[in-house]
Amino acid sequence: MTAAAILVAGGGPAGLAAAALLALDGARVTLVTGGAPATPDPRTVAIMQPQMRLLAHLGIWTPDLRVQVAPLKRLRLVDDTGALLRAPTVTFDADEIAESEFGWNLPLALLVPALAARARDLGVTIIEADVTAAKCSDSEIEVETTAGRFSAALAIAADGRKSVLREAAAIRCDSWNYDQVAIATSFDHSAAHLGISTEYHRGSGPCTTVPLSGNRSSLVWMERPARVDELMALPDAALAAEIQLAIHGDLGRVSGIGPRRAFAMQGLIAQQFARNRTLLVGEAGHVVPPIGAQGLNMSLRDAADAAELVAGVPDPGAAEVLAAYDRHRRRDVGPRQQMIDLMNRSLLSGLMPLEVGRAIALEMISRFGPLRRFVMRQGLGPQTLLPRAMREADSSPAPVA
Ligand SMILES: Cc1cc2nc3c(=O)[nH]c(=O)nc-3n(C[C@H](O)[C@H](O)[C@H](O)COP(=O)(O)OP(=O)(O)OC[C@H]3O[C@@H](n4cnc5c(N)ncnc54)[C@H](O)[C@@H]3O)c2cc1C
Repeated sequence: MTAAAILVAGGGPAGLAAAALLALDGARVTLVTGGAPATPDPRTVAIMQPQMRLLAHLGIWTPDLRVQVAPLKRLRLVDDTGALLRAPTVTFDADEIAESEFGWNLPLALLVPALAARARDLGVTIIEADVTAAKCSDSEIEVETTAGRFSAALAIAADGRKSVLREAAAIRCDSWNYDQVAIATSFDHSAAHLGISTEYHRGSGPCTTVPLSGNRSSLVWMERPARVDELMALPDAALAAEIQLAIHGDLGRVSGIGPRRAFAMQGLIAQQFARNRTLLVGEAGHVVPPIGAQGLNMSLRDAADAAELVAGVPDPGAAEVLAAYDRHRRRDVGPRQQMIDLMNRSLLSGLMPLEVGRAIALEMISRFGPLRRFVMRQGLGPQTLLPRAMREADSSPAPVA
């Protein structure tokens, strides 16, 4: 049996960020990655300013990365439901809250290897294996993997929505399916995006374009499953025409469709975020549909909170550390998940009261500057109690050499 002070399960962005942050604070960390994905992940993630500061703190927000990604300067919400009471288009402008941009849109295909390389540099032991079981005693947790057994003071479950460690810690979760599937892809367009991301709110869910560098954007298009089957079966040129139609030609002619993948839409929330020497990080603890770019942003705050609470304490798996983590994460994740769920269901339900409620809320946001600025700041992350790693480092881009 090998002794590791902290064992992290999951080689996705949440697990890698947690492992690297813990190692940066001097912890001895072993990361068990799970198997490599069968197909490359075409998703990009909009990472907001506080979480970009975390990437800067980790030392991975480099000029090399910056030249490959795009800033998000404005976010537009367009009511495309065709409802009787149509909400006004709402535009959030980073200038209005004295930021040069809300954040940056990073391909996971760049972010994940950058986090893995940094974790390795910081001394994290990385093992390609699956966790199969775990057992907790008063003083340690024993984790079984396909590469052997490890004992640790604390296990971090970042092993995704079907987390084995969450199950082993007997943490229950509430989970549900939405009758929606999201297509993630990217495309070229003839008109400039001007740093604007647009969420078109349709009756089947949002269809969102997010700027990439040059005249290219990523797309997250949520639709009913049967429609997604049709769209996924189309040749590139026909899909390009459908995308151009769905976004009303706002980005000119669409072409150059990138790799595409469909993601079934689910929601999940753990009833506790920590228990039995196990902390839940990322989708092991919460899954939300991709609306308002909250999923990985919350997960990076999980990782930063975990690292901050654990740093320098004699027993990182102690009950009081776990209780503090649970309190912190519940305050952040709970209300955000409810808002996203409500927004999504208000589109899908076709129910008049929900449609009217959404239209009135958006009308108020578009009219009242203080409310709009409050919503923008909340969208970036919580305004109080941000973990240290998100307060200190400057996320303004380093000069390009
Ligand atoms: C279409 C789409 C667009 C999105 N856009 C955004 C966005 O713009 N902004 C944003 O903030 N979020 C966004 N998200 C959410 C974000 O992509 C996810 O929250 C994030 O990728 C999840 O990371 P994770 O590390 O928690 O999980 P995963 O990436 O699922 O990683 C889980 C890891 O655990 C490993 N694993 C599994 N089982 C085991 C095991 N038994 N033992 C060890 N390891 C195991 C897997 O191999 C994997 O490495 C989007 C999501 C979707 C679907």
